[in-house]
Amino acid sequence: MAILGVVATGALVLLYSRQQTQIRIATTTQGMAKSLELTFEGLLDTTNIALQASTDEIGRQLASGKVDAGSITRFLERQNDRLPYLGSLRASNERGDLIYGRGVRNPTVSVADRDYFIRLRDDPNAGLYVGSVVTGHTDRILVWPIARRISKPDGSFGGVIVTTFHIAEINAMLAQITLDRGGSIELRGPDMAMITRITANDRSVVKLWDHRLSAPAQEAMQANPREGTYVSDSRFADHVTRIYSYRRSPKYRFIVFVGNSLDDAFTEWRRQAWIVGALVSAFVLVTLAFCALILRAWRRQEQTLGAIRSSELSLNEAQQIARLGSYVYDLQTRQWTRSETLERIFGIDRDYPRDMESWLDLVGTQSRAQVQAHVRRLVEQHRPFDFECRIRRPCDGTERWVHCTGRLRLDEHGNASAIVGTYQDITERKAAEETINQLAFFDQLTGLPNRTLLLDRMRQAMAATSRGNHFGAVLLIDLDRFKVLNDTYGHEVGDLLLSEVARRLTACLRAGDTVARSVAGDTAARLGGDEFVVLLPDLGDDRQAAGAHARTVSEKILAVLGQGYQLAQIEFVGTASIGVTLFQGQQAALEDLLKQADLAMYRAKADGRNGVLFFEATMEEAALRRASLEGDLRRGLDEGRFLVHYQAQVTAEGHVIGAEVLARWQHPQKGIVPPAEFIPIAEESGLILPLGAWVLDTACMQLARWSRQPEMAALTLAVNVSARQFHHADFVDQVVAALRKSGADPARLKLELTESLLVNDVEETIARMNVLRAAGVGFSLDDFGTGYSSLTYLKRLPLDQLKIDRSFVHDVLANPHDAAIAKIIVALGQSLGLDVIAEGVETPAQRQFLAECRCDVYQGYLFSHPLPPEAFERLARQGCDVLRTAPAIQGAAQPA
Ligand code: C2E
Ligand code: CA
Ligand code: CA
Repeated sequence: MAILGVVATGALVLLYSRQQTQIRIATTTQGMAKSLELTFEGLLDTTNIALQASTDEIGRQLASGKVDAGSITRFLERQNDRLPYLGSLRASNERGDLIYGRGVRNPTVSVADRDYFIRLRDDPNAGLYVGSVVTGHTDRILVWPIARRISKPDGSFGGVIVTTFHIAEINAMLAQITLDRGGSIELRGPDMAMITRITANDRSVVKLWDHRLSAPAQEAMQANPREGTYVSDSRFADHVTRIYSYRRSPKYRFIVFVGNSLDDAFTEWRRQAWIVGALVSAFVLVTLAFCALILRAWRRQEQTLGAIRSSELSLNEAQQIARLGSYVYDLQTRQWTRSETLERIFGIDRDYPRDMESWLDLVGTQSRAQVQAHVRRLVEQHRPFDFECRIRRPCDGTERWVHCTGRLRLDEHGNASAIVGTYQDITERKAAEETINQLAFFDQLTGLPNRTLLLDRMRQAMAATSRGNHFGAVLLIDLDRFKVLNDTYGHEVGDLLLSEVARRLTACLRAGDTVARSVAGDTAARLGGDEFVVLLPDLGDDRQAAGAHARTVSEKILAVLGQGYQLAQIEFVGTASIGVTLFQGQQAALEDLLKQADLAMYRAKADGRNGVLFFEATMEEAALRRASLEGDLRRGLDEGRFLVHYQAQVTAEGHVIGAEVLARWQHPQKGIVPPAEFIPIAEESGLILPLGAWVLDTACMQLARWSRQPEMAALTLAVNVSARQFHHADFVDQVVAALRKSGADPARLKLELTESLLVNDVEETIARMNVLRAAGVGFSLDDFGTGYSSLTYLKRLPLDQLKIDRSFVHDVLANPHDAAIAKIIVALGQSLGLDVIAEGVETPAQRQFLAECRCDVYQGYLFSHPLPPEAFERLARQGCDVLRTAPAIQGAAQPA
């Protein structure tokens, strides 16, 4: 108490004397700021009067209409002589050129860019302008400009009059004032820009144009813009802590800051404070020394207790963070001790029976036996255990994953005294692992195993078949028409189909009773896109039976996938094609197995979809042959091994009116390869694009040549265009370019399109056809009747001709159904205003029948085989004898 009393009195004395010192300094700085404000106001008053007198004089001369520059300059000089502290008075015209006053020059200096000029020009009522410090236009020294507006007699702007204070002179004036050590004076313009700043130590200008104000200054000025006092450490200048007083001139808006160093002022106070402090401290120290001795002993003891408590706490916290609960099981007393975190993991409280065995609920029948085995090994062999298992929390029945450890505690004699261990809650880690697993091995859309997992299961299945000598099968399932669905209705609908297919596949494999022999390892997986795989790992050891079973499963799948789909608003009927390959052991490589199934699937697709095909070695050969043909085809194109043949198109009377252009390939070894063999390969590989372009160019050049021969000039040429070629972005340009390059008449060119073109984007197809139609090109719908004929589309396509497919023509006489179709096509053509041509006319009887149906034009072996150009030209000149069978002409390609 005594200590406190002494210290408090000391502190109060010091506080009071400190306050007095502060008040004293503030009064001094306030006084000085006030007198400086008055001084500068006085200076500006006189300056204002001088400027006003001058503007009056100039105004007077302007009014009289007789402006005498010399007299104005003299007037200004007289003002200057009266006010020696002012810089030269100069006046400008309304454009800002300084033209009056001492030292005006020719060419004139312009002040049009100066802030004062702009402000005074724009404000007729502006009084005295007090600006910020600038570098003089003429003498390049720092000046503080003061200006007034000159108004013409009509009040309009007539220029400015400007003078300056030289900063050096203001500084010299301020230097007369005696400042305390650490004192400072600042003069700032209306916009806060520094005009000058001097301190007792440094009388030079510090950082001109510095607008920054310390935070306390800003606060004080916000509270009272006119005058005030604050303390600041003058951070932007010299880091001296001062009491500042400021005053803003209400007339001219400049501000004066006067500062006095607190440190200096407090020097005396500090000396007093020292003495008082020393006395008080001495007293306090002695008293404290006694107390300290007593305290020390007590504190030692407290610290030890605290450390124990805190380490216990942090152990608890760490356990909670790690979700690590601990337990001790005393082997002698058979008593359990468990930590709070352990209770939290199991969701139990203190009142639960101590004996954990009575409520510990392990999920899975084997778990309890395993735990008992672990404990036995621990006790008998001293082997610590460590395993993961699932528990069911007795409080709410929820399941958690835990990691359990246990080891023996030995007493001083080396005998086992207890089991100590931990339970850690690893549910979240397990969930994360599960997610990662799901991402890595399962298809995100369908939830089926992905390619990676499938390959792994296949590897296991193959290894198992080689051990067990049984057969397995891989079924590769590809959805027919998936692309059409996707392109027409968008990916969302496509995704819906894929998910539904996955669901049906899974259900199909699970339904063991319907599928003859479903095994636990049967797996459905998604390879990507619309390709799925079913792996049947164990089909028994009889090849025949295994094949039969794989077929049953495949057919079951086809049936299930062939049922209608309701995809959002869309009803879809989808089919699939399945390729199957059997395996036993590791005769084939893993990837080869998929390739085999893929080949078989492709063949199934080519054979008309919605079917199952088993892989055979010949398929591989065919695939190889195809690959080698593709290479040859590429080379053939480079080496110019292609030709075209022309097959005549004739009227009922036998006049040749044109020809179909048919591509031929002269293979260096195989001779002429028929288009049926190379066109599909060209389409698949994209080579159809250069090939088609070449055929088009050749046909156009031929038309151009014929146009110069009167008897050939009327012939038309029909060029086959495949879907891929037609849909290529450049197709329209390509046709137009071929016509332009060759100079052929577009009206003689006809493009043969098939209905397969319409499968993709009908609107786009129609748009393209219309562009070409506008250019004069004609269109024939090839193989009509075999595809996807929709009357709605037919009406909208800008067609000229329908071409009855040769399959109908072939059987018109034998098959009444085909005869009816042929008739309908002719009638349809007529009703739509289209020509009708029949292709593949081989016999006079067929021709006769078609003529009776009123078909216009014919094409077929009856008239002519496809011919090389010269042979065709001969035929065209002489015409066909329609009653005679066409002569077999040398060089014509016979269909394969
Ligand atoms: P396509 O457009 O249906 O062509 C008519 C096919 O029928 C030609 O076969 C022709 O030789 C054959 N043919 C003509 N008259 C008769 C007949 O009386 N009886 C029989 N059975 N067949 C007859 P080719 O020349 O083998 O062409 C086959 C297919 O290859 C063509 O079928 C066409 O789709 C395609 N093709 C031919 N050249 C080209 C081409 O330059 N570009 C495109 N994209 N495809 C072409
Ligand atoms: Ca054709
Ligand atoms: Ca055809």
